[in-house]
Amino acid sequence: MRTRGGPLESRDFDFLVIGSGIAGLFFALRVADHGRVAVVTKKRAADSATNWAQGGIAAVLASEDSFDDHVRDTLVAGAGLCDEGVVRFVVERGPEMIEALVDLGVEFDRSNGAPAEGLEHFDLGREGGHTRRRILHHRDATGRAIETVLLDRAAAHPAITLFENHCAVDLLTSRRAGLDGEDRALGAYVLDACTGDVETFRARATLLASGGAGKVYLYTSNPDIASGDGMAMAYRAGAAISNMEFMQFHPTCLYHPQAKSFLITEAMRGEGGILRTRSGAAFMPRYHEMADLAPRDVVARAIDTELKRSGDDWVLLDITHRDPSFVRERFPTIHERCLGFGIDITREPIPVVPAAHYCCGGVRTDLRGETEVRNLFAAGEVASTGLHGANRLASNSLLEALVFANAASNEALARLRDEKPSLGPVAPWNPGHAIESPEAVLIHQNWDEIRRFMWNNVGIVRTDQRLARAQRRLELLQEEITAYYWDFRLTPDLVELRNLALVAELVIRSASLRLESRGLHYNLDHPEPDDVRYASDTILRRSAA
Ligand SMILES: Cc1cc2nc3c(=O)[nH]c(=O)nc-3n(C[C@H](O)[C@H](O)[C@H](O)COP(=O)(O)OP(=O)(O)OC[C@H]3O[C@@H](n4cnc5c(N)ncnc54)[C@H](O)[C@@H]3O)c2cc1C
Repeated sequence: MRTRGGPLESRDFDFLVIGSGIAGLFFALRVADHGRVAVVTKKRAADSATNWAQGGIAAVLASEDSFDDHVRDTLVAGAGLCDEGVVRFVVERGPEMIEALVDLGVEFDRSNGAPAEGLEHFDLGREGGHTRRRILHHRDATGRAIETVLLDRAAAHPAITLFENHCAVDLLTSRRAGLDGEDRALGAYVLDACTGDVETFRARATLLASGGAGKVYLYTSNPDIASGDGMAMAYRAGAAISNMEFMQFHPTCLYHPQAKSFLITEAMRGEGGILRTRSGAAFMPRYHEMADLAPRDVVARAIDTELKRSGDDWVLLDITHRDPSFVRERFPTIHERCLGFGIDITREPIPVVPAAHYCCGGVRTDLRGETEVRNLFAAGEVASTGLHGANRLASNSLLEALVFANAASNEALARLRDEKPSLGPVAPWNPGHAIESPEAVLIHQNWDEIRRFMWNNVGIVRTDQRLARAQRRLELLQEEITAYYWDFRLTPDLVELRNLALVAELVIRSASLRLESRGLHYNLDHPEPDDVRYASDTILRRSAA
């Protein structure tokens, strides 16, 4: 591998955590009593999908619920691709994980008048696909409640050092360092966005907790950080990546040039909201007997079909036939936010588009949260554990992040105890002859192009021809991006662009290998599931260099 770098000394820790969302922080807190922990995070600490999670976290706590019910609901959503052993592993650990969060200080809403202690009397919500009430929440901002507590706890722990504005560039492995023996993770090269230096972080165990990849699409509900860096780094380091074709799209995100990533809740259709074309025609009855209340993926596909047919950029979600005071009371946040963009939802319909929401695929891990590279663990949205299969059941992702961060922490602690403490010699980053980028605009143009052709060709509805077209465009762009990467000084934007291009490649390749339609992957040329040939994961590995 070509490497670049500077004269900086390495920073040495027992554990390196890449990402400060639920997975990274929970892991850090689990291991911090036993070793020194670095948490690197590429923007501010709370910039994460975790902080944006609304609905809540699924766990079996109600007396009328059971592990078997939660397992069954997850398997049904996963359309034949979940690993049942993994599903049971996650579901059975739900109550214990909730207890751990409550012990740390997370407050979940409880039934009126219930004591604010213990694991009973929670106000459990119900969401699409769940046959029981099992969603713990903190009003409609559950993720923020969790992130705030975890960050406070991490900040207060003397063994945890948090590095904000530090963007991991690539993983360090023994094979890359030219060392003999089984390949193992040694840490990461990390770009300090404030100084522009690339530092060497060495660690005995590394956790990828870098979240999802929604930014590979033009429209996404994800925060800015979701550029799939962890998936790209792990692939380059030789770990297996699976099921990247299964991207979940949320049907309704606000369409407005200044409104980045604002979701319009599905509850609005639950309260009578009607999807219309720009000319005012209600179209959902043509697609499903439940019309606007059809399942999420059916609605997203219908909108996509209408947009492709008309060439329009958005459709309309209309709730104006309901009483204005009801709309204001039922949807106060959406009402206020839309007013800020000049849209009064009590009087005019809302422009909406579907948006990339959750990446079911990622870095393949086992039940210990370990990837195919020894001592490299992955948890949270970056990982592909076998829980979600071809489609994610709502509110299972926060639970999955906790369960696998915990499993990874147990294994990493065992390694710390059992393996001899060697960090291995690693070459510092070599900046080569990289010069200042003369035209940062080039980066943004390429970025925009990838996101646009991914949206148009590898989005909600795919065809063989569209996938082939996307592949050709990507190949041209990748040549350019590789040249930038070696010729110009690294910036976080350039790091993200390179990763975005690789993640786009992984999605296109995975989607092209699956000649059927299943779960979130829908190909018009192969509209039915094919259990004989495709009832298994799609796995990609980098061929040995
Ligand atoms: C709007 C919205 C609502 C949601 N609602 C729910 C819900 O109700 N229930 C549910 O279960 N799930 C929900 N999800 C999904 C869930 O929030 C995420 O899957 C989960 O929070 C992911 O946690 P994580 O720790 O893996 O990653 P994140 O919370 O996204 O954190 C990733 C971290 O990695 C850092 N990072 C990324 N790349 C790098 C790099 N190269 N170097 C250094 N740091 C890096 C980021 O800065 C960030 O700190 C929702 C998602 C969204 C977007």
